[in-house]
Amino acid sequence: MHLSSKSVLRAAVIGSGFGGLALAIRLQAAGIATTVFEQRDKPGGRAYVYEDQGFTFDGGPTVITDPSCLEEVFAAAGRRLADYVDLIPVSPFYRLLWPDGRQFDYVNDQPSLDSQIASFNPADVDGYRRFLAYSQAVFEEGYIKLGAVPFLDFGSMMKAAPQLVKLEAWRSVYAMVSRFIRDEHLREAFSFHSLLVGGNPFSTSSIYALIHALERKWGVFFPRGGTGALVRGMVRLFEELGGQVRLSTPVDEIVVDEGRARAVRIKGEPAIPFDIVASNADVVHTYRKLLRGTPDRRAYGERLARKRHSMSLFVIYFGASRTWDHLQHHTVLFGPRYRGLISEIFSGPRLPEDFSLYLHAPTVTDKSLAPEGSTAFYVLSPVPHLGKAEIDWDVEGPRYRDRILAHLEERLLPGLRQSLVTTRLLTPFGFRDELSAHLGSAFSVEPILTQSAWFRPHNRDSSIPNLYFTGAGTHPGAGVPGVVGSAKATAGLILADMGVTHA
Ligand SMILES: Cc1cc2nc3c(=O)[nH]c(=O)nc-3n(C[C@H](O)[C@H](O)[C@H](O)COP(=O)(O)OP(=O)(O)OC[C@H]3O[C@@H](n4cnc5c(N)ncnc54)[C@H](O)[C@@H]3O)c2cc1C
Repeated sequence: MHLSSKSVLRAAVIGSGFGGLALAIRLQAAGIATTVFEQRDKPGGRAYVYEDQGFTFDGGPTVITDPSCLEEVFAAAGRRLADYVDLIPVSPFYRLLWPDGRQFDYVNDQPSLDSQIASFNPADVDGYRRFLAYSQAVFEEGYIKLGAVPFLDFGSMMKAAPQLVKLEAWRSVYAMVSRFIRDEHLREAFSFHSLLVGGNPFSTSSIYALIHALERKWGVFFPRGGTGALVRGMVRLFEELGGQVRLSTPVDEIVVDEGRARAVRIKGEPAIPFDIVASNADVVHTYRKLLRGTPDRRAYGERLARKRHSMSLFVIYFGASRTWDHLQHHTVLFGPRYRGLISEIFSGPRLPEDFSLYLHAPTVTDKSLAPEGSTAFYVLSPVPHLGKAEIDWDVEGPRYRDRILAHLEERLLPGLRQSLVTTRLLTPFGFRDELSAHLGSAFSVEPILTQSAWFRPHNRDSSIPNLYFTGAGTHPGAGVPGVVGSAKATAGLILADMGVTHA
């Protein structure tokens, strides 16, 4: 792609999450001089990397799906993803464990899936096939056709409506899974995925059942060196193209004049002029704080703040000085309740007594992430966001950590606590304070049908024509493939608006 005019356009991208980096690469590759401003000292956003005593901990995303969306970003710059980062296939995708001792290895192998499903309920083998066919149909419609389409006007939503109706998108993921599958364990196994992008399986549109087809189509991957290696690869590519990343540089304000975004202001510096401003920061933070000088946009931010927001997460990053033979890379430990627990996570008003956990053990795939003979972990527990439960996480965090570690020791990791070398916490306070996430939400605006596509904050602001958005709060939503898709949609808009032609 090349600029059609001779003058070089300048773009600011606020935030270096996957959405921000993917957008910045696409813009820079198209000849737009792009600067990424990141408030933290390292890039990656939710994919920040912590290093403690020889252990490397990826802060957030660890289940990398749809590598093709990442390959496309590199291809847009004439490069190959494989030259920057090595994606290792992970199998099983997840090991699922229930308190009654039952286990399900979620693999990409039909005979193995069939025999495991039959051991829960033989009739569900056929039900699963029908569910997979449904999931594939939604995947085609919701991901392939609409995943990177910017829904700027209601007409675009109406065009998609007949298919959404046909696929019964108003039903929930869990309701749809239950139509095909009878066993409760299996219903949980095939509906929990929407939680990975901040959606409640009991209220998120069944469109999110597409995640299952997406995983079956491409598989689940882990970057060698951790998700941080993927972030570093993207930053390297961006800088090779001539882009600039400014770390530890919070944007304080987007300067709007005569209806256009003119500049970004960093505290203590003169305003820096840009032709294009794109925010990868939290959408509420962007509208309420960064656009505080533009009353109608700030008012929109107040309305956004009142929308439903996804739950938060409590994450413990911990290192142990030993290994466990039976450990898998990704383990889900369901608790005694499913519907009741999820309802309390999304509605509050307090921290539930029980929990369901996702345990990540990257050293199973890549030993370089911990000292020899040691294991790096993180465990996450979905918890209510700060608008749903008033919890002082500085007090509750250490207690909750101790309960979770004791639980892991009892259920899966004997001897864990005496082998602990390091622990660190990320609580809803961290999402709020370090990532400027509204209410400490881990995934931004909740992905329910009435807050999706056209109903979601748009990829281009509705009244400031050169102000754009990318990331979890925009269409299509959270998750690495989601935000990378949002960057594609936004880059397409910017290039069209600026008259940048494709080579
Ligand atoms: C613990 C956890 C586990 C997850 N696991 C997975 C997974 O396995 N697979 C998956 O696909 N997804 C997963 N997700 C979801 C996924 O990580 C996110 O949806 C995605 O990474 C969000 O990317 P983003 O582009 O929206 O930007 P973010 O990652 O939200 O980054 C936004 C950036 O903007 C910066 N910023 C904010 N305000 C300013 C400002 N004023 N000035 C400058 N910079 C600013 C922030 O510091 C941040 O770096 C997980 C999320 C979490 C939290």
